[in-house]
Amino acid sequence: MLRFHAPLLLAGLLPFALGVAAQERGTARAPGDRAAAFDQLFHRLDSEELKPATPEEAQAQLARLRALIPPGDARRELQFRSLACFQPPEDAAASLEVARRGVLEARQRGDAEAEARFTYCQAGFAEMTQGPRPAIDLYTQGLGLARRAEVPLLVGDGLVARGNVRSYIGQHALALADFIAAQRVYEAAGLRANAESNLQNIGIAYRRMGEFERARRYLEQAREIALRQQDWAAVLVHWLQIGYLHEDMGEPDRALAAYDEALRVARQRLGPGDAGAAELGIASARITKGEPTAALAALARARADFASINDTSNAGMLALLEGQAHAALGRDAVALEAFARAEQAFRRERNERYLAMLYPERAKVLERMGRPADALDDYKRYVTLREKLVEARTDQRTLMLRQQFDARQRELENAQLRREKVLREQRVAALERARRWQVGAILLGGVLFAMMAGFAVRQFVRARRLRVLALTDELTGVANRRRIELVAEEAVAVALAHGRPLCLITFDIDYFKRINDSFGHLAGDEVIARVADACQQALRQNDAIGRTGGEEFLVVLPDTGIEAATQVGERLRSNVEALRWHDVAPDLQVTVSLGVATLRADDSSVQDVLRRADAALYRAKAAGRNTLQTAD
Ligand code: GH3
Ligand code: MG
Ligand code: MG
Repeated sequence: MLRFHAPLLLAGLLPFALGVAAQERGTARAPGDRAAAFDQLFHRLDSEELKPATPEEAQAQLARLRALIPPGDARRELQFRSLACFQPPEDAAASLEVARRGVLEARQRGDAEAEARFTYCQAGFAEMTQGPRPAIDLYTQGLGLARRAEVPLLVGDGLVARGNVRSYIGQHALALADFIAAQRVYEAAGLRANAESNLQNIGIAYRRMGEFERARRYLEQAREIALRQQDWAAVLVHWLQIGYLHEDMGEPDRALAAYDEALRVARQRLGPGDAGAAELGIASARITKGEPTAALAALARARADFASINDTSNAGMLALLEGQAHAALGRDAVALEAFARAEQAFRRERNERYLAMLYPERAKVLERMGRPADALDDYKRYVTLREKLVEARTDQRTLMLRQQFDARQRELENAQLRREKVLREQRVAALERARRWQVGAILLGGVLFAMMAGFAVRQFVRARRLRVLALTDELTGVANRRRIELVAEEAVAVALAHGRPLCLITFDIDYFKRINDSFGHLAGDEVIARVADACQQALRQNDAIGRTGGEEFLVVLPDTGIEAATQVGERLRSNVEALRWHDVAPDLQVTVSLGVATLRADDSSVQDVLRRADAALYRAKAAGRNTLQTAD
């Protein structure tokens, strides 16, 4: 169980890996040509349309860009430096200083775009040297500037970077909101490649929320794109994330294989910071496999990698893993010393996710050393943190729900809160008992610890499962009625507020009763599931589908006008028609009828649009089925 971030974060945001190259400036171009050529190359590098495959190539690109700065053009000179700021650091503290000076200079010149870029750069290095919280604040500042400068790419990149940090410290809902907002910005600006590489981030956020299957889908899609674009930093992130995913799922061998891939990419194509991240992964998997000596060797390599670039952001994780490895070797005193270092680092970062990993590990060692009272203290810290993390999840969901006005959903949420309150009370009661037993705990320590740890973990897992079940339709795996209606309401509210287009499609399987009657309900269920799956695959990233009734579905298409929606609907219809059913029942034919409706300025709620979509669906049925009708 480990997470890694800072150099990758930079790599993700990083247009290219480069060393500053000095280069002569003289070319024969006219100044105007040269400025235009600079702007063009700058944009291609900034948007990652141009992605150097090797550090040498990156250096050459940078040299080309620098050579294109028209003599005496201070604005483009600054622009150049704001991009060059993102190079992998030889010394993170020194790079931070360079970024900070860039911010001041850009501000003096009143250049909001360059100031935003330098601010992001500062945030990246601040994360390496000072931790996640200052980095989040800096990204937020940079975002304000990017919005003011009205550069969509910069807005999207800032959202992605901030989302990454938030996700790292466990603010999952906020992180997802950032990624999804970035996705909208990229797509609206036609920045397709950026939108594609953002899929990776969405996958990571889902993994951290424990939604493994969904995470894997996003990550695998992202890997294909990264390989196609030969984007090695993204390929590395992919392998690391697949490794973490397998660790979370309790499969250390597969995790190890993924980390080995990551290490290969890092050593061949990237820098020591990235190799260090892969080594950390290897160490973690080795510990899980009961190979502490091999883990320590990997940790020593990781330590050297990070030290070579003065990156201290992984000090806590290094110490935690060292502690675990020493503990496994029976060197309790050394382990305790390492855990103390880890605790210090995580506390400084206020990283509660990691502290919650640390305490139970240390408690085990303390207990073995015959210090059950100290072990119990650590265990209590762990329970408190776990509780806080569960609450934070609830808070984050509440935050998302605040903008959504679905009464039923709120009811559900209240029920969940009530359930969690009961769980919390049970845990508090257990702790109370534990306190009374403190003396007896010297004898009972071990048993109590194991019991309570098991209890807390179980509650945590159960809370998560309840949450997933409450939102997903069990037969099809798509959103259930509550969920999709909530999504639709939110999308309508956003569209009305911003004067943006939106369409809804309702559809219903044709002659479904006959299917049930002729082939049985099991076949009927299979039909519903496959139709849902085929339709989900035909949708775009921002579209959503949910099952609203037996064999009826609702599709929400934000930012979509009626022509595009009709095309989407037609694709749904033809995809279903093209499905083959010979393995379910011979002679089975399945089609759907669809109704499409668009949001009108005078609509007051989603119900208005739904009514028109349903009326159109009714007409499609009347027109002979297997067809689509548009609401007038
Ligand atoms: P139409 O073309 O007009 O839609 O004809 P239809 O036969 O599909 O009519 P209708 O939509 O009214 O029928 C829906 C049927 O679907 C009724 C119900 O028995 C069946 N059904 C509802 N939920 C399920 C389910 O979860 N599994 C199965 N196998 N059948 C279901
Ligand atoms: Mg029906
Ligand atoms: Mg039907």
